[in-house]
Amino acid sequence: MPAVPSPVVDRRRLSDPALAPIADKIERGERLTAGDGVTLFRTPDLLGLGTLADARNRALHGHRVTFAANQHINPTNICILRKTCVFCSYARLPKEDGAYRYTLDQVLAESDEANSTLTREFHIVGGLDMQAGLDYYTEMFRALKRRHPHVHIKALTAVEIAHLARLARLSIRDTLVALREAGLDTMPGGGAEVFSPGVRATIADKKLAGDEWIAVHRQAHELGIRTNCTMLYGHVETIEDRIHHLSMLRDLQSETGGFLAYIPLAYHPDNNELGETLHRTGTATSAFDDLRNLAVGRLYLDNIPHVKTHWVMVTPFLSQTALHFGVDDMEGTMVREKVYHEAGAHTAQAMALDGLLRLIRGAGKQPVERDSLYHVVRTFDADGATAAAGPQAA
Ligand code: SF4
Repeated sequence: MPAVPSPVVDRRRLSDPALAPIADKIERGERLTAGDGVTLFRTPDLLGLGTLADARNRALHGHRVTFAANQHINPTNICILRKTCVFCSYARLPKEDGAYRYTLDQVLAESDEANSTLTREFHIVGGLDMQAGLDYYTEMFRALKRRHPHVHIKALTAVEIAHLARLARLSIRDTLVALREAGLDTMPGGGAEVFSPGVRATIADKKLAGDEWIAVHRQAHELGIRTNCTMLYGHVETIEDRIHHLSMLRDLQSETGGFLAYIPLAYHPDNNELGETLHRTGTATSAFDDLRNLAVGRLYLDNIPHVKTHWVMVTPFLSQTALHFGVDDMEGTMVREKVYHEAGAHTAQAMALDGLLRLIRGAGKQPVERDSLYHVVRTFDADGATAAAGPQAA
């Protein structure tokens, strides 16, 4: 990523004096310390935090907001960690009600929705299913590429990659090479949750450890496979856990430069054990915390170019507001989202292009359709006409 251009912060908008030295660092392009990160998470001055994040975001991306036309495919919800990822509402045991595993024909039938939409990306994630090994996915990716050669495949979290490697008794590297040869283009950032061992022991005891998640992404980056990164917030983690997590992401990015985007994921408490234990239902996170996580991500992760808001989780209206809190990228049109709807998301499972354009324009921003690697596909002007197309970096 090129050096971050120096943003200019409007100091009149900062009401918390603790933000002033951080504003100085942001203007000088200095990296924030863990202490600065804690201050940003703790400040009551949400609008001041937004001012800082917006200044950094505008220096990088101007008024442009990108989105991609994508389709989610979740081939199996059967997962061996069903009992230990207590925040998960999606997974089932093999004989449990609602358990499913798609055949290849079912995956292909679902993928054919791409024929009637503008889909340029399949986002494919599922459970850790003992009957869905490396061959299941390599056959799937080959068949999808034959049928939809123009569609990019973003697939399999680090946790799934490690599971497939174990089943196939291959190294992570050889597993990634096999998947890439079959058609995998990039990887999503799920499965990261919160890296701190204490949090993981509480909410995802048997899941791939934080440093193992990092190692899978490092290996992918070394092979030239770009990936995203995430943090699941709003459950039992502390502010210090969040900063520790973000620091690990930032360190890997300094080493490899392989992350495309950071996506904070809001925990949803419906239909999962953790939500019952914490006696929470409905939306667990607050609008304040959702905006704060996005803004801190923009400021603390100074080497990750894009910050994405996931409207399915935090509502389209909050995502729209987030466009002034450091966010330059919105979850796309997204045909058939399942994972967060199982956890109580009350938003739609897909959004039409018109809806996305309306949200972005309503925030005074310029919509830009991108591909999975953030190249510009179409730029829209304020009236909805297609102004330009081309392979520039978004
Ligand atoms: S979060 Fe992922 S690994 Fe954990 S139970 Fe759910 S599907 Fe399985």
